[in-house]
Amino acid sequence: MRIAIIGAGVSGLTAAYLLHREHEVTVFEAGDHAGGHTNTIRVDTAHETHHVDTGFIVFNDRNYPNFERLLAQLGVAWQPSNMSFSVSDEQGSFEYASTSLSGLYANRRHLGSLAFQRMVAEVPRFQRAARRLLEADAEHEHLSLREWLAAHRFSTHFVERLIVPQVSAVWSADPRQMWSFPASFMARFFANHGMLGLRNRPQWRTVSGGSARYVEALTAGFAGRIQLRTPVREVLRGEELVTVTLANGESQRFDQIVIATHSDQALALLGDASEAERRLLGAIPYQLNEAVLHTDVRLLPRRRQAWASWNYHLLQEPRPASTVTYHMNRLQSLRASEQFCVTLNLSDRIDPRRILRTIQYAHPVYTPAALATQREFAQISGVGRTHFCGAYWGWGFHEDGVVSGLRVAEHFGARL
Ligand SMILES: Cc1cc2nc3c(=O)[nH]c(=O)nc-3n(C[C@H](O)[C@H](O)[C@H](O)COP(=O)(O)OP(=O)(O)OC[C@H]3O[C@@H](n4cnc5c(N)ncnc54)[C@H](O)[C@@H]3O)c2cc1C
Repeated sequence: MRIAIIGAGVSGLTAAYLLHREHEVTVFEAGDHAGGHTNTIRVDTAHETHHVDTGFIVFNDRNYPNFERLLAQLGVAWQPSNMSFSVSDEQGSFEYASTSLSGLYANRRHLGSLAFQRMVAEVPRFQRAARRLLEADAEHEHLSLREWLAAHRFSTHFVERLIVPQVSAVWSADPRQMWSFPASFMARFFANHGMLGLRNRPQWRTVSGGSARYVEALTAGFAGRIQLRTPVREVLRGEELVTVTLANGESQRFDQIVIATHSDQALALLGDASEAERRLLGAIPYQLNEAVLHTDVRLLPRRRQAWASWNYHLLQEPRPASTVTYHMNRLQSLRASEQFCVTLNLSDRIDPRRILRTIQYAHPVYTPAALATQREFAQISGVGRTHFCGAYWGWGFHEDGVVSGLRVAEHFGARL
């Protein structure tokens, strides 16, 4: 069969990897690299070369079984990563990190702050309440995060300076939008990732040499079938064939189409979208996030003891987007003379002379309506010669992208 795949992110490439052995596959990718959010930047300094990740960075030994199987099959090496979290305000007066006791009390004044002590003491109570929510707490099952936190009377400090930063950073989401997030969705994610207790935490990992290394291995068998810088403009489905029209006006015909873009992009491509496609793809919006790779250490907490892998910025005037700095030296164990950082949505605070690259990424926005949509996948995928994949069909992470690509490949009888 002639199969077109639109989008060379992890979802489209997983499908292409399995399908190219039996079928004539063509991958159309709008961008200039294969990998989509897997985007490793090579940085050459005077004496060193580093491969720094800017999009997909970490995975773990518990929640990424299919991604790990893929890496094992490809013989791609990974290494341990360091996952820790810090929160700091603009003045540097409020700062803590989850790294150690000296990170937690990086600002010694917090030792004498009742509000801070209460915030720390509330962590085990939060973990117990979240576990109950998942086990038997039917009464609270449908509450939003705001309602659930209020029902348990957690302190303002705990909510605003600990929970909202973590949830906002994990999903790169607007902190205000987090309030309407279903509390049970958050609790399930925290439980799955071993975040509701001190023991039994997953081991976090990164791909050795940067995540682009696995994309090279994954695409080795069909690299010649990937057309970079080739945006698709429109897809039209006929009885016998699917017509794909490129941005340059050229049209090509295929037997089947796999749309591996984000949900909003997928809908925009369909010139003949069905009512079900409009309803389901339209229910999962995406939000833009500007990521900057840079070496400006002023974007890390003021006190070095408070430096962590993920550093959340508490702003006096919060922005409608997550504001976080990933410390790449820690996450990727880089031995570098510079500190490499990736900062989301705070580009105006970074010294322009220290900026290495600016990239626009988009993340799915999860609402109760979006989550309900995921269960109706079979209504539109595998229907009318059209298949959909993308991390938005799951939690929005790399494993979800792999799973969605495998699901499409399975439709054609191909398995990992
Ligand atoms: C800053 C950042 C950090 C992240 N960190 C992690 C992490 O550490 N761990 C984790 O598990 N997840 C992480 N994620 C989540 C990440 O989004 C997913 O893991 C996954 O990579 C998304 O894959 P995808 O295939 O759904 O989409 P994408 O990777 O976005 O792929 C979609 C592709 O479709 C292409 N496309 C769109 N429209 C067209 C068109 N018209 N024609 C042709 N091509 C088109 C796009 O150019 C893109 O390449 C992170 C995301 C970001 C942005």
